[in-house]
Amino acid sequence: MQSPKVPEATIKRLSIYMRVLKDLERKGVEVISSAELADICGVNAAQIRKDLTYFGEFGVRGVGYYVKELHFDIRKVLGLNQKRNIALIGVGNLGRALASYRSFTEHGYVFVAAFDVDPKKVGTFLPTGVPIEHLDELPRVAREKHIEIAIVTTPAEAAQDAADAAVRAGIKGILNFAPVQISVPEHVKVKKVDLTTEFDNLVYHLSSGA
Ligand code: NAD
Repeated sequence: MQSPKVPEATIKRLSIYMRVLKDLERKGVEVISSAELADICGVNAAQIRKDLTYFGEFGVRGVGYYVKELHFDIRKVLGLNQKRNIALIGVGNLGRALASYRSFTEHGYVFVAAFDVDPKKVGTFLPTGVPIEHLDELPRVAREKHIEIAIVTTPAEAAQDAADAAVRAGIKGILNFAPVQISVPEHVKVKKVDLTTEFDNLVYHLSSGA
């Protein structure tokens, strides 16, 4: 459904619209004007309309958007209307924190497996009850548990090994938190998360007054 021409910035904004709509739905709001929705999302109404035109016709002239319907449609556009099984690779401070964050599950991202190489950790469990297994077990577990995404939270020097193991296991999406670029075959998608870049960006805006 998703056209390859859709800009990355649009995809990010859709995710924001979706979260706002979910919240509105929870509060019982049935209809919202495009101006109000834009205001809550921190963009302008024209931007929302433009973002949505990539995917079809949404909204009703003179009315705005039906909250529940638009929430459902954006989830579908983003491919979020189904559960995604996730494997955590590297069960340290960051990995544990991510795997304990309940809101991921509410959004359909479920940590079903965790891997490490530290013999003191392998054979133990995450606080959620998920067993921590040796990285060598990834291909078997990925098959059994239909894992689609791996989150890499190993030290930088182990991240490529972790990614290679994920690729060998047939995993097609990797979210990499380690501060290093990892190489993967073309059919595998990698997203890197780097809070330092976000800090740098924030500090730039603080110091430039922009
Ligand atoms: P940590 O040392 O607490 O945890 C790392 C874990 O990875 C350990 O349990 C270790 O045994 C395991 N590990 C090592 N080699 C492995 C391998 N080959 N396969 C599987 N597991 C392996 O580290 P942390 O503080 O949790 O940080 C984890 C990573 O996240 C680091 O690379 C760190 O630089 C990075 N980090 C990134 C951000 C960000 O903004 N992206 C923020 C904080 C930390």
